[in-house]
Amino acid sequence: MPEEPKPTPTPAAEAVPAAGQAKPSPPAPVEPAELVRFEKVTKSFGTGPAAKVAVQDVSFVVHDQPNSGELIAIVGPSGCGKSTVLRMLAGLLPHHPPTTGEVWAFGKRIAGPSAERGMVDQKYSLMPHLTVADNIAFGLKLRGVAGSERRDRAHDWAKKVGLEGSEDKYPSELSGGMQQRVSIAATLILEPKILLMDEPFGALDPKIRMQMQELLVKLWREQQSTVFLVTHSMEEAVYLGDRVLRMAAKPGRLVEKLHLPRPDEPPDAMRQHSWFNELTQELLRRLETDAPASGELPGSEKWR
Ligand code: ADP
Ligand code: MG
Repeated sequence: MPEEPKPTPTPAAEAVPAAGQAKPSPPAPVEPAELVRFEKVTKSFGTGPAAKVAVQDVSFVVHDQPNSGELIAIVGPSGCGKSTVLRMLAGLLPHHPPTTGEVWAFGKRIAGPSAERGMVDQKYSLMPHLTVADNIAFGLKLRGVAGSERRDRAHDWAKKVGLEGSEDKYPSELSGGMQQRVSIAATLILEPKILLMDEPFGALDPKIRMQMQELLVKLWREQQSTVFLVTHSMEEAVYLGDRVLRMAAKPGRLVEKLHLPRPDEPPDAMRQHSWFNELTQELLRRLETDAPASGELPGSEKWR
């Protein structure tokens, strides 16, 4: 189970109120800070009768988990608005801003892109004319970090993602899996508190995909960032997710918010549990039928 934020402990020795004085009320438990809030968010493209509703009335809140992070998997059928949700959170046009409703991060309304919200998408977005090291360090350059420090940090990150020795290669010389690792390193080097990933492993073969999942878990735990991961794989959602947002289509909307147990086990061990398979199968069934949230799912709790 993920650790729930603990309330601030009451001091061991409370001040004894003088006779006749009212006893001070105990301190209210400290709520963890709000990281992300979607408040009745609707996004339409176009206007008038031709307007197309991409997502309708999406609301959820994610709190900061002190000294850890969380991975929130977003699942749903094609066209239900997963990318729209992620891109509104990233502050990227044309999805940002919402047509109605509000998207908040760190207690402020999102006004555009920010380095606190890093995005890794399917297309890897590498610059073909830059080497691996320069691609990884590109964001640092924009921040004005000096050349020698950039090089050192880019090399550290190349090593972390298993690209040591490939720093001077160009993207066209790399496999899809390697390009994806460059893209992940280029985003994580900026230490975003919120990491947004849109089907990042979709194009990878199953073995590389599993390696990338494990790498991602290791890295985001190290950085204690909160990850929003759009995936079409229920296995990936259940294996990686602390929470799952399930969406349905026509119109795109949020239908289920789940909180999953998080045993610290390698994927192979986790796949042995019956709850893992039951949950994956049931989620898939609900997703395929666009079923409303109904009843308990094995191995999960309602998202509080
Ligand atoms: P998903 O990522 O779940 O497949 P999207 O968020 O990409 O879904 O799209 C949700 C809906 O919004 C789809 O019907 C899509 O056609 C529409 N849509 C997405 N982006 C645009 C856009 N830039 N212009 C018009 N319609 C869009
Ligand atoms: Mg999409």
